[in-house]
Amino acid sequence: MAPAEVSATEVNATEVSAEDFQAILAATRQFVRTAVVPREQEILATDQVPDDLREQAKSMGLFGYAIPQEWGGLGLNLAQDVELAMELGYTSLALRSMFGTNNGIAGQVLVGYGTDEQKKTWLEGIASGDVVASFALTEPGAGSNPSGLRSKAVRDGDGPEPDWIINGQKRFITNAPNADLFVTFARTRPADALGAGIAVFLVPADTAGVEVGAKDKKMGQEGAWTADVNFTDVRVPNSALVGGSEDIGYRAAMTSLARGRVHIAALAVGAAQRALDESVAYAATATQGGTPIGEFQLVQAMLADQQTGVMAGRALVRDTAQQWITEQDRRLAPSAAKLFCTEMAGKVADLAVQIHGGSGYMREVPVERIYRDVRLLRLYEGTSEIQRLIIGGGLVKAAQKAQKAQK
Ligand SMILES: Cc1cc2nc3c(=O)[nH]c(=O)nc-3n(C[C@H](O)[C@H](O)[C@H](O)COP(=O)(O)OP(=O)(O)OC[C@H]3O[C@@H](n4cnc5c(N)ncnc54)[C@H](O)[C@@H]3O)c2cc1C
Repeated sequence: MAPAEVSATEVNATEVSAEDFQAILAATRQFVRTAVVPREQEILATDQVPDDLREQAKSMGLFGYAIPQEWGGLGLNLAQDVELAMELGYTSLALRSMFGTNNGIAGQVLVGYGTDEQKKTWLEGIASGDVVASFALTEPGAGSNPSGLRSKAVRDGDGPEPDWIINGQKRFITNAPNADLFVTFARTRPADALGAGIAVFLVPADTAGVEVGAKDKKMGQEGAWTADVNFTDVRVPNSALVGGSEDIGYRAAMTSLARGRVHIAALAVGAAQRALDESVAYAATATQGGTPIGEFQLVQAMLADQQTGVMAGRALVRDTAQQWITEQDRRLAPSAAKLFCTEMAGKVADLAVQIHGGSGYMREVPVERIYRDVRLLRLYEGTSEIQRLIIGGGLVKAAQKAQKAQK
């Protein structure tokens, strides 16, 4: 995603008490470790999160943990969100993906920028999990740079309440095969450098002209589905235009993505912790020539690097979430956290395979899944290169601004 100005307030006005949050966190940890972890192989083999786990997640409120309480969600703030994400990252990442778009990139566009009417129409269903919302931004040729998107929304009617006709093609859209709602970005006028002229529309999946392609065949995260979504002369009323503004789309996308980056960083820490735990358990028991491999110092060195990465990532995620809440930094810090934690998780997973030797390359072994699952984290919601551009570019810009102010 291209660098952009980010400004938004943390919208969960009702605080969740520390005590209530501890109960939510403990229940989530219990669910992940006792109900989901034992079924990871089933999720992998069937490429599906089983219905009973979906229902359990729904009943626990996990489809709406980051949606404000007034709209039926649990109302967690970002500091609480990241603690939850570190638990969710401990198992197949498909679990989190099932409700990730509702709470994250798609849901937060509505929470932050929707009109009251739009929130009333959609947010309760999103929070309960009765509605699955997808975030439809990426297009062929417009991934890292969404300001280049070519989907078009053309006004039909001269009055204050025109219909809009949407045409375009979206790619790699998470949860598209079972989405009820597409939070869809489209251009209302030709591109300019600032990303204005991009609007975002709430398009029910059953609208005539919306066509979801075949499920993508991915490297990992079995059970999490993506697909192309094509829009052909899709007619929506003006009430579908988020915030009633033709120009809100780019800002809404960037804000939602920046918040999402902190969440993805936390998810990476959870996955890295699991890879570390699997590595330690294996090193303590597997033997070579009668000696547990964990007694070899070179294996200990790998464990040490894993542990250090996980600890650094966890601290960075917690600090970044606080900076988001206090509005100290909602731009560079989320990118730094995502960059560090997702790269760290990649290295930790790689070491985990190494520590497992040949077994680490086998399908049934958790670290093999983790190795593939975490690879995606460096790609979506802004690649590592894009995070570096945001951080480096932001630092230089700030220095230039300060120098100008001194003159
Ligand atoms: C499984 C999966 C799920 C996804 N889910 C969603 C979703 O729900 N909704 C959605 O809208 N999108 C989704 N995406 C899309 C994802 O966000 C994009 O794939 C990602 O942003 C990269 O864009 P791209 O694929 O077009 O690659 P490109 O942007 O073409 O990138 C290719 C390479 O070029 C580099 N690059 C690009 N621009 C620059 C630059 N200016 N400077 C330096 N290097 C650069 C990149 O870092 C990368 O290494 C998903 C993708 C995947 C794989």
